[in-house]
This record gives sequence, structure tokens and C-alpha cells, in this order.
Amino acid sequence: LTVLGLETSCDETAAAVVRGFPPGPGEILSDVVFSQLEEHRPFGGVVPEIAARAHVELIDGIVARALDEAKLTLAQIDAVAATAGPGLIGGVMVGLLTGKALAVAAGKPLVAVNHLEGHGFSARLATGVAFPYLLLLVSGGHCQLLGVEGPGRFRLYGTTIDDAAGEAFDKTAKLLNLPYPGGPRIEILAREGNPARYALPRPMRGREGADFSFSGLKTAVRQLIQNNAVETVDVAASFQAAVIDILIDRSAAAMAMFRRDFPETAEPAFVVGGGVAANGAIRAALADLAGQEGFGFAVPPVKLCTDNAAMIAWAGIENAALGRFDPLDAPARARWPLSHEMP
Ligand code: ATP
Ligand code: MG
Ligand code: FE
Repeated sequence: LTVLGLETSCDETAAAVVRGFPPGPGEILSDVVFSQLEEHRPFGGVVPEIAARAHVELIDGIVARALDEAKLTLAQIDAVAATAGPGLIGGVMVGLLTGKALAVAAGKPLVAVNHLEGHGFSARLATGVAFPYLLLLVSGGHCQLLGVEGPGRFRLYGTTIDDAAGEAFDKTAKLLNLPYPGGPRIEILAREGNPARYALPRPMRGREGADFSFSGLKTAVRQLIQNNAVETVDVAASFQAAVIDILIDRSAAAMAMFRRDFPETAEPAFVVGGGVAANGAIRAALADLAGQEGFGFAVPPVKLCTDNAAMIAWAGIENAALGRFDPLDAPARARWPLSHEMP
């Protein structure tokens, strides 16, 4: 299957062509991502109205480039996959409507992709890891642990009760006066810092279940900065160490739940996806945990962790392979939780 994917749910305008078949790995024929960073930087975050307008201006050219780099015409692809949510609704509508128009024009079927399924299946695109697996989804808007059995088949083990992991990185970066987006900056600064310098809380650690909470950590960082002359690199390192401890504790708890639900899976895999999975220290710590707990480990390459259209094309392939296509009146959704799809 060869699928054209479109991604416009946040501030990346992206199109990609991917070829392959489940379980993967897939072949990325093109992967064009235009990040609207400069447009939003003056505001310290993504401005939905600006993002939507930028997607309108950019999407045609990005699609043309993706097809061009793949050396294919629209007639040579099997389906069009577009993010239909969750995300900033204006942007989602631009990408979804563009996808519908291309599908109609080319006479190809449409897959209305859940962006989170894109993040959650990226490791299949990269490595071909088999279902079922335990997924840690750590992105700008989400922090969840899920048992993944296939497209639309997710079991929720834990979710954040307040901020997402990426949100915690971005808010902490803002407190440190670092430019947007903060996550990658914190990772770079943390390399120079002492993670034991400042004592920060690890909310929810040891708690029953596998839920997360990050707002207390952010508040502790705010108080630390307000009341002390801090060393930025040490705050970054101490914050990142706290996040890692939380992710490890909650993931370990979910591993036990996954083993109970899937006892027949002899060599279960632990899979990570979403923008925060781009963080090298987090990747290394989670790989260690998987090794200790007898889980395999799969994480997409860094470029497939943050928002991109290759993951949307691949999610399109996963759905198309099961004959799961969508009608042309498929809605754009601001909210679209994965776990509500459980049959
Ligand atoms: P969602 O996927 O939940 O809708 P999103 O699409 O905005 O949200 P992603 O693009 O998956 O989120 O990830 C962006 C987030 O990842 C941001 O919060 C960003 O700070 C964070 N991030 C990116 N790189 C790193 C890094 N190296 N270390 C930590 N965080 C990072
Ligand atoms: Mg972004
Ligand atoms: Fe995302």
C-alpha cells in the first residue's frame, strides 16, 4: 500500500508518502515537515488562528513537494490519509478538507486518522514491532499508558490528571525564560546540569494505578525559581530527572497491568511515541526499564517522534490494510480520545 498522509493538527504543516504493509517497517518515500515556529515564537506558544491561516497558505505546496520527492503522482497512490483530530480545530479542518479534496479528485479512498494513533504506531513504521504492545504516549497534549491491539483497539491503563508531559517541559522552560518550544532546550541545558542539585517532587509515584500528574512539579519549579537565585542548567537537569522518575514508575506499574491482560504475549514490547520521546535521556531511561522488566523496546527515530505526516500516512496504511476507510463527511474533531474506540 502506498499512502499520502497530511498533518495539520498543531503548528506543523506536513505531507508524506509512505509505502508498506503492517506490521511494518514501512518505507518513507517522502516526509516534508514545515514547522511554523517563527510565526508563533513572538507569542510564546501556538496561536490557533495564525496556525490555521498558515496551514491554508502552505498545504498545497507541501503536498506537491511530498509527491514530487516520492516521484509519484496522485494516481499512483492507494489512499489519502489526513489527521482528523485531536488538535486545534482550524488546522485540523484545513488538512482534513484538503485530504478529502485530493481523495475525490484522484478517486481514492480516504482515511480520517486519529493523530494519536499516528504517534502510537510510529514505532511500527520504524521497526515493525508486533501487536499487542504497551504504549507510553508522551506528547504536547497527552501523557498516557495504553495497551495497543490494533487500529481503534486501545486499553487505557493510565493518563495524566492535569498537564501532559510535553506541556510540563514547555511550562518549565517558560519559567526559566527559555524561548518556545521549551522541551528540546531543557534537554540540551540538562546535559550541563546537576540533576541532584534541587529536590523536586515526583507526583503520583508509588500510587495505585498508572495515572500521571505534572502540575505539582511545575509549581515546585516556580516556587524554587521565585525564592532562590537558581542555576538554570541545574533546574533543567533536576526537572528532567523528576520527569524521568515519574515516567519510569508509572510505566513499570502499567507493565504489570499489561502482563495481566496479555499473559499469552511471551515477549511483550514497550513502545514510546510522541514529541517527548525525542528526548535522549528519557529514551535511554525507558530502554533500561524495559530491559529490567523483560520487555522488548521500540521507539521511533527522533524525526518521527514530533509531529510529522509519515506517521499519519502509516496510520492510514494500518487502517487501510483492515479495510477501514472513512466517508467524505468524516468530521474534524478537536477532541478524540484513543481509548473511547475500544469495541
Ligand atoms: P499531541 O500529539 O498530544 O496532540 P503535539 O502534537 O503538540 O500534542 P508533539 O508534537 O507530539 O505534541 O510533541 C511536542 C511536545 O514534545 C512539546 O511539548 C515539546 O516541548 C516536546 N518535546 C519535543 N522535543 C523534546 C525533547 N527533546 N525533550 C523534551 N520534550 C520535547
Ligand atoms: Mg509542533
Ligand atoms: Fe502530536
